[in-house]
Amino acid sequence: MDHFLYRDGVLHAEDVPVAEIAAAVGTPFYCYSTATLTRHYRLFDEALAGLDHLVCYAMKANSNQAVLTLLGGLGAGMDVVSGGEYARARAAGVPGERIVFSGVGKTRAEMRTALEGGIRQFNVESEPEMEALNEVALSLGTVAPITVRVNPDVDAKTHAKIATGKSENKFGIPIARAREVYAHAALLPGLRVVGIDVHIGSQLTDLEPFRLAYRKVAELTTALRADGHDITRLDLGGGLGIPYERSNTAPPLPVEYGAMVREELGDLGVEVEIEPGRLIAGNAGILVSQVIYVKSGEGRDFLILDAAMNDLIRPAMYEAHHDIVPLIEPAAGVEYAPYDIVGPVCESGDTFAKARQMPPLKSGDLVAFRSAGAYGAVMSSEYNTRPMIPEVLVDKDKFAVIRARPTFDEMINRDTIPVWL
Ligand SMILES: *Cc1c(COP(=O)(O)O)cnc(C)c1O
Repeated sequence: MDHFLYRDGVLHAEDVPVAEIAAAVGTPFYCYSTATLTRHYRLFDEALAGLDHLVCYAMKANSNQAVLTLLGGLGAGMDVVSGGEYARARAAGVPGERIVFSGVGKTRAEMRTALEGGIRQFNVESEPEMEALNEVALSLGTVAPITVRVNPDVDAKTHAKIATGKSENKFGIPIARAREVYAHAALLPGLRVVGIDVHIGSQLTDLEPFRLAYRKVAELTTALRADGHDITRLDLGGGLGIPYERSNTAPPLPVEYGAMVREELGDLGVEVEIEPGRLIAGNAGILVSQVIYVKSGEGRDFLILDAAMNDLIRPAMYEAHHDIVPLIEPAAGVEYAPYDIVGPVCESGDTFAKARQMPPLKSGDLVAFRSAGAYGAVMSSEYNTRPMIPEVLVDKDKFAVIRARPTFDEMINRDTIPVWL
């Protein structure tokens, strides 16, 4: 459930008419709902009630400082994948003991920053990384808490670009080699093994792949304990999907996911961490855009919007579907017609939807892309020298710009011209 609903025929973000925000900040822009972000975090927190647990928001989904401050304030931990994200989490007031560091290519500089600033654990993904972390920790006279990310060779049945738990993916170490790798870790004095980590992919719409992976992790927990390792914590990753298409069957709910976790892992006496990103932020955001032109083509008509692939790359990159709705609710009984919905960028890939059934729209009308709060703003670029679009946070009847649109001068002046030119 989200808080972007029609009231009296106009789309609201919580208690604010979205058109009012558009008038104040200009289009296109991202708009996030405090109530939805809060609700989604709490759903996960409650789903794991009764287990010792920490919800570590995967901040790569949406790392605006206001979003991090909000979630951190609710008690969320953070899953970070770069030194930059670590710095953002700390700047948002999240203590090191609530930050886990994931990613296949952590540099020594990133390890140093996190060890000095405080870290809950590193999720280590390879033996070379293990050795590097050991050296960095020893050079700082400290010990790094680690889990090893195992690759359970489970098919997540999601888009190939966001599946991470098959043996052909670059992530983690094969689970069959785990005991050997943990034995290696135990010999390194700069490391302290605290648990196991697994993350099999994103936008999963079925619990079965999770269940298979967690069952393998449970077996591994028993085996590693028998080998003498102190496994007290399991990081179960993120990946629970969201309903991008209202018309489709909905993916499992956090409460169902939580029940499955309890079934598979509840008896192990471990602390559980989860790293949801998309499910917390995805349906908590919309992208608002204006129709520039309605263009008739051969055999098809185009809606040309002022938002483009540089603002929301998911359709171009993952063939992703976003529901696109007008800010004015279509009257009952109006006739829908198919449109290709595109942006102004000079690439055919700049297409948000093909033959999408839409109500009548004209130049100047406003539309909202639903489910745009995760992997939207964070993946945007300034391709075609289109400014990064503003982000706005709504809380009941208030809203605030939480990242402003840069001016052309600001964009131009980021470049420097060598003295010889
Ligand atoms: C991307 C990622 C997540 C978050 O995935 P969602 O699908 O957004 O929940 C969690 N953990 C790791 C290691 C990731 O790479």
